Amino acid sequence: MLFLLIILLITLTSFSAPVLSDDSSTISKLKSPFETLSRLISKESTTSPPPSPMLSPIKLPFPDWLKQFTGLTEWPDLNPPYIPLDFINFNLIADVPIHDQAQCDNPQTRLSSSCSFDCFNCVEADDIYTCSKLVQTFDDGPSQHTKKLISNIKTKTTLFTLGVNIIRYPEIYRECVDQGHLMGSHTWSHKFLPSLSNQEIIAQIEWSIWAMNATSNHLPKWFRPPYGGIDNRVRSILRQFGMQAVLWDFDTFDWKMLDTKSIRNEEDIYKDVKQFKTTSGKGIILEHDAIARTVDVGIEINKNILDEQLTISQCVGGLNYIKIFN
Ligand SMILES: [Zn+2]
Repeated sequence: MLFLLIILLITLTSFSAPVLSDDSSTISKLKSPFETLSRLISKESTTSPPPSPMLSPIKLPFPDWLKQFTGLTEWPDLNPPYIPLDFINFNLIADVPIHDQAQCDNPQTRLSSSCSFDCFNCVEADDIYTCSKLVQTFDDGPSQHTKKLISNIKTKTTLFTLGVNIIRYPEIYRECVDQGHLMGSHTWSHKFLPSLSNQEIIAQIEWSIWAMNATSNHLPKWFRPPYGGIDNRVRSILRQFGMQAVLWDFDTFDWKMLDTKSIRNEEDIYKDVKQFKTTSGKGIILEHDAIARTVDVGIEINKNILDEQLTISQCVGGLNYIKIFN
């Protein structure tokens, strides 16, 4: 029974619309035990950690401009050092308390002024959380499986990439760019940002941008927070980079196919996507391209379930990148 209840709650939360922070009903929603419980379950389920990239060799040279700027000589590990940036004003960083994943009980975290997406589905006006068409997005790459994905989908898509993977698969990243796919940032090493210090959040973003710039000479506009972990402190840092958060309407929970305790399989995902297509017909779908099985699912959805798609920049009529260097 409990198991059925959990499945029901996960299903409900994956279809629920985000709560706007200026929505006067936000606080009452936060006080609902159902809402709290369902979000707690959803949070723990929202995007798994990606496979560890650290076993693969780094292929991207550490560029001279980054040596000069950072004083370092090689790409960092999973905990990148904070490098001060003159355009970051710490006085503009919102005073929202640090919280760990699934720890949402702090009264300040519950305030609508904190606007936590991971805790309460709260979104701000500059978050992108839906699209006029039903579109796929892929997180956690690039990986050795990304090439199969882009070789088999018939539409341009959006890929939210990890810096630690970009430096290991720069040629695959460049192939995605060459084929016209839109590249966004998914941080340097997939940390849950609301649990980090301001300096650590900046490090996660700056090193991710530098990996993208060193690979394809561009600065990203679109950012997907790992685990949906974003609140107004993280947003106030992200905005100083000129970037915007991209969330989602529909989570495929595709990574659960790899979880031996889960009974979710390909057919479950196809059934859920078809149902969402029927009931909603539009929105952003969350998928992953770091695992062979999730890539195969992405290809099947692209070929046989969804027709016309858009990239995130097309969804909002916005820029592909903040800047492209020649
Ligand atoms: Zn991720």
